[in-house]
Amino acid sequence: MFVYADNAATTRIDPDVVKAMMPAFDELYGNPSTIYSKGREAREQVELAREKVAKAINCLPREIYFTSCGTESDNWAIRGIAEHYAAKKGKHIISTNIEHHAVLETLKAMEKEGYRVTLLPVNEEGFVTARQVEEAICPDTVLITVMTANNEIGSIQPIREIAAVAKEHNVFFHTDAVQAVGHIPVDVQDLGVDLLSLSGHKFHAPKGIGALYVRRGILPDNLLYGGGQERRKRPGTENIPGILAIGAAIEKATANLERDMAHVSMLRDRLLNGIRQTIPHCKINTPTHDCLPGTVNVSIKYIEGESMLLMLDMNGICATSGSACASGDLDPSHVLLAIGLPHEVAHGSVRFSFCAENTVEEIDYILEVLPKIAARLREMSPLWENVNK
Ligand SMILES: *Cc1c(COP(=O)(O)O)cnc(C)c1O
Repeated sequence: MFVYADNAATTRIDPDVVKAMMPAFDELYGNPSTIYSKGREAREQVELAREKVAKAINCLPREIYFTSCGTESDNWAIRGIAEHYAAKKGKHIISTNIEHHAVLETLKAMEKEGYRVTLLPVNEEGFVTARQVEEAICPDTVLITVMTANNEIGSIQPIREIAAVAKEHNVFFHTDAVQAVGHIPVDVQDLGVDLLSLSGHKFHAPKGIGALYVRRGILPDNLLYGGGQERRKRPGTENIPGILAIGAAIEKATANLERDMAHVSMLRDRLLNGIRQTIPHCKINTPTHDCLPGTVNVSIKYIEGESMLLMLDMNGICATSGSACASGDLDPSHVLLAIGLPHEVAHGSVRFSFCAENTVEEIDYILEVLPKIAARLREMSPLWENVNK
């Protein structure tokens, strides 16, 4: 059996999304900036896709800017706001210690350029409070950036409350909603955020297309300079296949949201219950409330996450561990350390992340394989020997 359980890393492109992209590989090749009909056809499709993204998160089409990915959206939002408003408001930025690297590394680079950054600690379940944010606000705070949902453990932050605090103190508020859009309801009016990042490949569009919502009237500086695309704010000839895809994908994800959330959270609960019953000495890192429907993160004590992943892979199961990431380093995840796990426990953690395409049979297969792998690896662990004495 093959089980793809790493949907927080990326998702399979939906066949309907592939269909929606096809015109871009055929007749729809005009440059949307040109005035002849070939170009206008492409322009029309770009604007239709923009309307779909806007409708999905409840904003105006002109508040949506297409980008190349979630990382670009995060970089642009943070730098763009800070650089445009620092002279007037100051150089202090507030964030959390469990943000995605797209946010944390941007902030780190900006610290070297003279910005001051406060990273709020999360509690043992992975949450910050609006109160913490409020207490961190200084006279020179220009921006607050807090992710909507965490990619490793699934905790969903109190974004509405934080946005209200930001507004009260006249500070801009950006949220990285890359894990949230397409998975839980995201309504920018209801949340009250000023800027919001999203990325197509996390909800069944291909890699290489993202978007940034910027509330009208707010003017982040450009990240890129060039032509007049995206109302001069994000130059570069439009990625027409990607734009068609993200429009189709977000439309489909929002249309089926409630049904999919119910299915996916049923899978998550089945897996969590099964793990609790079959594997002793586990720590569930996924919070029990305010959590993404499809995320399961668990530390299996006394074993190495990397070995576990290899053995899962040999059994046809794709998952992610709490250490090595894209960089290939073996430092334990900053998120797991932030919720208070000791290094050795963080190292033994594994994340499964599901989507609507996953099935009960797949969960039961994981539950058949995982306890055997855990037992096998523990047999080889000197630490486990001591536990059982
Ligand atoms: C995947 C992810 C990103 C980066 O998005 P890309 O489109 O891969 O650049 C940023 N933030 C979070 C929370 C993510 O999960």
